Amino acid sequence: MPVTRMRRAVAGAALLGAGAIATVAVASGGSPADRSAELRAAIDASKPRNVILFTGDGMGDSEITSARYYAKGASGRLAMDALPFTGEDTTFSVKPGSGPDYAPDYVPDSAATGTAWATGRKTIDNRISQGPSSAANVPGDNASYRTVLELAQQAGKRVGNVSTAEITDATPAVLGSHISQRACQGPANTRSTCPSETKQAGGLGSIAEQLVDHRIDVILGGGKSRFTQTLDGSSTTVLDRAQAQLGYRYAGNATQLAGISSLKNGPVLGLFNDGNMTTTWTGPSARRPAASAPYYGAPVRCDETNRATSAPGEPSLEQMTNKAIELLDNKKGFFLQVEGASIDKQDHAANPCKQIGELIAFDDAIAAARRYQRTHPDTLIVVTADHAHTSQIVPEDASGGTGLPTGYALDLQTKDDATMRIAYGTAGGPTPPATPDALSQEHTGSEVRIAASGPQAANVNGILDQTELFSILVGRGRGHSHGNPGHSSNHGRHGSHGARPRGDRGHR
Ligand code: MG
Ligand code: ZN
Repeated sequence: MPVTRMRRAVAGAALLGAGAIATVAVASGGSPADRSAELRAAIDASKPRNVILFTGDGMGDSEITSARYYAKGASGRLAMDALPFTGEDTTFSVKPGSGPDYAPDYVPDSAATGTAWATGRKTIDNRISQGPSSAANVPGDNASYRTVLELAQQAGKRVGNVSTAEITDATPAVLGSHISQRACQGPANTRSTCPSETKQAGGLGSIAEQLVDHRIDVILGGGKSRFTQTLDGSSTTVLDRAQAQLGYRYAGNATQLAGISSLKNGPVLGLFNDGNMTTTWTGPSARRPAASAPYYGAPVRCDETNRATSAPGEPSLEQMTNKAIELLDNKKGFFLQVEGASIDKQDHAANPCKQIGELIAFDDAIAAARRYQRTHPDTLIVVTADHAHTSQIVPEDASGGTGLPTGYALDLQTKDDATMRIAYGTAGGPTPPATPDALSQEHTGSEVRIAASGPQAANVNGILDQTELFSILVGRGRGHSHGNPGHSSNHGRHGSHGARPRGDRGHR
């Protein structure tokens, strides 16, 4: 076999006995074929009927790489890796200020980044589809922050919102609510933290109230405890109101969700955990090194059965995605957002197995949507992250201890039966505690991958800012961006700015 054709050699890894490390061909992995014609054929300038956005919270390039290496091996590929168009997007938010221009905040949170992709406009951290202001507790402008979900509804499309977090958490919140602080998830939370924005005070109310007030057709995730809070001055809960007054059908477990097969009898609200949904996998947290080798103990294989055995009533993200697509599919089209939320949450917790398991569960959901896309080619699928995160693949060569990483680490035994060390070093200070339990590792400021397939997917290419994703999702190509943190790609109120012709990227 010619050396250049040896790249699939690792496929034989499964035949090796236990304990044998799979080997990887060292020859070039490059395809001999020129791909110009293939890419040309993948460019489709038509308007998508359906749009599915997959948001991997905290899913930076290093999170993708470690999940791929662990689960698929060094030469393996994830479902998300097969999308033909790929770029990177910048995720910075802005700092509070008096405006109209604001200083950049290079390390953003999911509320500000969600606002950027959902509305095309930057804002400050902790803020949900609302403009910046001088401080977190000073509400900003709502009117000019129309979301992609609201615009899809206005166009007569069905809309869905799916997450493994509380569905009132920042990422899903940005699509169907406008409030100054992400903590204001239920009515009681809002009365204490956002008192000027309660319904009783003349505001739009909590995130939970606003999501159902929007009559989003399919809402699936965790966060039931936000919906069982009582409305202002009432003993009625958000869940009561959603069912009795807004016509929602409620599913509290996977079996009830499976039993709903159309939207004929009303929109669907599925809440499968009081808080965030149970992680798909489990395993030990990263830890501080021992005094001598093996510094982190024996390499670990993850327990991949955690959700299935400890929370069998909770649907998988793939099941929720399939059900959402089944319910939303219709002639006029739909917009659906699917979030893999706990990639981020387990990165904060410095738990590599839980983090990787959530990324693989997210990838399984992407594979399900790609199967739908095969029979519904008028569907645009975009996969991205809202911001980068802590975890890094670092060397195992500790040079007698001096080469050990800062902070916490754990050795995993990958599909190749090789050791991969994952380190978390963004929280803990000069004398970190032995375990990261009491800490939260930090987001990072790196750009993140964005990938797409389907109509208008070719707009996802090169370096974008996150606000340009909004323009792509609403069918306006890349829009136009000033690169000024105080401005955005969307200058018009209610998202009515003129669209730049597709492909025109000059004078940015
Ligand atoms: Mg999130
Ligand atoms: Zn986070």
